[in-house]
Amino acid sequence: MTFSAKTRKRFGQHWLKSESVLANIIAAAELQASDRILEIGPGTGILTQRMLPQVAELLAIEIDRDLSRRLRPQFADAANFQLIEGDILQLGWPQVAAAMSGDFPNKVVANIPYYITGPILEKLLGTIAAPNPQPFDSIVLLVQQEIADRLCAAPGSRATGSLTVKVQYLADCEIICPVPPKAFQPPPKVMSAVIRLRPRPFPQVATDPDLLERLLKLGFGSKRKMLRNNLSALIERSPLLALLATLEIAENVRAEDLSVTDWVALSNKMLEEGYSS
Ligand code: SAH
Repeated sequence: MTFSAKTRKRFGQHWLKSESVLANIIAAAELQASDRILEIGPGTGILTQRMLPQVAELLAIEIDRDLSRRLRPQFADAANFQLIEGDILQLGWPQVAAAMSGDFPNKVVANIPYYITGPILEKLLGTIAAPNPQPFDSIVLLVQQEIADRLCAAPGSRATGSLTVKVQYLADCEIICPVPPKAFQPPPKVMSAVIRLRPRPFPQVATDPDLLERLLKLGFGSKRKMLRNNLSALIERSPLLALLATLEIAENVRAEDLSVTDWVALSNKMLEEGYSS
């Protein structure tokens, strides 16, 4: 049994109560007996208690001291349960490994606090210029629907933004299921979704990742404008049009129309032509 606890707004606490959503999260994690799970924000332990019997080891990171104090005795009998009371964003990977008998976790499963979704994604995946050197096999997260849509958007979709390209360069992204506010206590104001990310090296490597990051920042700078206008600070119109033509990209595209492969090709081609970050 899990305990009941009042929620603290400042820690983004919304307890999951829907059995079907819990089952979907567990199924999406494809748990194996050898798995070493990192759970961010276990809260009252509702997900934790379902995963513990199925995996080799589970490390939970909980920032709330009162919850941490209650989680320890709750799982005192589970030899494969570890808990760090602290902020996920402040923890170094060596600390995480040390708490898990020296090995890195291979999967993340978490109902995360929404107010730090971006920083958590960057912590787990790294960045284009510095991907996480210990990539996870999979990362299953509950996030705001709007973020889920952005992360999993296809080229040409209005949901595509620089976050889409940054994350899809580092991982395959899929939406597992939508989650209505009533699946939580208290209900959040927004719709949510379960997503699964599978980190992998992108097949086309960006030769200058910093240049790619700069291109994305500028390219998506003003969403209504055409790409060639957004990039004018970096490259003049006629060489850019020539580059786009070589890459078979239409000259009037907007940033959201480009695929991740297009972005990498554009930045690599610009590097070849002597442009730099
Ligand atoms: N997994 C639980 C709780 C989700 S609510 C459930 O599904 O019911 C989000 C949880 O993240 C809360 O327990 C909150 O205290 C914790 N949390 C918030 N910020 C955190 C941080 N920076 N590091 C670690 N945990 C955090």
